[in-house]
Amino acid sequence: EASARESMYLVSEFAKDYFVNQLTKTELGKAIGLSYFKERGFTDETIKKFGLGYSPDQWTAFTDEAVKKGYQLEFLESTGLTIVKEEKKFDRFKSRVMFPILSMSGRVLGFGGRILTNDKKAAKYLNSPESDIYHKSKVLYGIYHAKQSIAKEDNCYLVEGYTDVIQFHQTGIKNVVSSSGTALTPDQIRLINRLTKNITVLFDGDAAGLRASLRGIDLILEQGMNVKVCTFPDGEDPDSFAKNNSLEELSDYLKENAKDFIQFKASLLMEDAKSDPIKKAELVRDMVTSISKIPDRIKTEIYIRECSRIMDVSEDVLFSTLAQMGKKEL
Ligand code: ATP
Ligand code: MN
Ligand code: MN
Ligand code: MN
Repeated sequence: EASARESMYLVSEFAKDYFVNQLTKTELGKAIGLSYFKERGFTDETIKKFGLGYSPDQWTAFTDEAVKKGYQLEFLESTGLTIVKEEKKFDRFKSRVMFPILSMSGRVLGFGGRILTNDKKAAKYLNSPESDIYHKSKVLYGIYHAKQSIAKEDNCYLVEGYTDVIQFHQTGIKNVVSSSGTALTPDQIRLINRLTKNITVLFDGDAAGLRASLRGIDLILEQGMNVKVCTFPDGEDPDSFAKNNSLEELSDYLKENAKDFIQFKASLLMEDAKSDPIKKAELVRDMVTSISKIPDRIKTEIYIRECSRIMDVSEDVLFSTLAQMGKKEL
């Protein structure tokens, strides 16, 4: 219902203001939350631009304040800001720094909240639940602040996390969004596709998720977009790299290390295959599957040639494998 959604937007906007106020105006918020962000290298200007906040270490501080201000429990609950359990209510985000998630037009849809420690046992980030205003699969963190630059630069950097987006902005690169830890969806790609045909996917240097994420990139190819990928040095992510380098160094790094996706994947798979022919056969098929997603025939043919060269398999066999997949006859 439209008016229910409107009420959810309003309570979310209130929550953002509340968390900002906690961060910037209260002693504990400043001592704990603000100093956390400062330590990460964020300036006051950056903190303000992204509406970063702090949710205090209390069970019902936010909910009590919202109820006092006249916001209805129904909408506090449906946005997930308040958890109601056996008549008891408590704040979802307790003792966390807060990242509001904005729509393309700048409305608050939900939040990510990060714990303040590096405790490996606790969930590092907690997100708003799926709701009538927050559909995870249709949202990209940072899109509101990035949309103009994405169109202007005719390229979009896709990073893993909230802080990667923020640190890039502070360093001076604004055409950047994040899927915030979830696998990229066709709807998220469509949001970018409306602004540019070019995506550069930036992977954390931990490389843990790299191979698992490759399949997801096929979804970008399927939408006819051009994909480059870039990895960061071991132990670094776009956030830490941007924090420790100038804009010029960051731009140079991206320029030198961004590789065409098909070439990158073919080279990576070849390393995996080493001299195991059975493994190699499987990986060649994997590679052709990716190429089969590309709608454009000319590009398809060019990539088949590239793939043949990199993987040392004849073009003929690649073309016939492609034909077997039934996607297209060349
Ligand atoms: P930080 O620099 O604050 O430690 P990060 O963004 O580098 O965080 P990663 O571990 O690289 O964190 O994860 C990338 C993204 O995945 C995060 O920004 C967050 O959106 C999401 N994420 C990470 N851990 C969790 C978690 N436990 N629950 C939900 N989402 C998570
Ligand atoms: Mn990571
Ligand atoms: Mn990271
Ligand atoms: Mn990080």
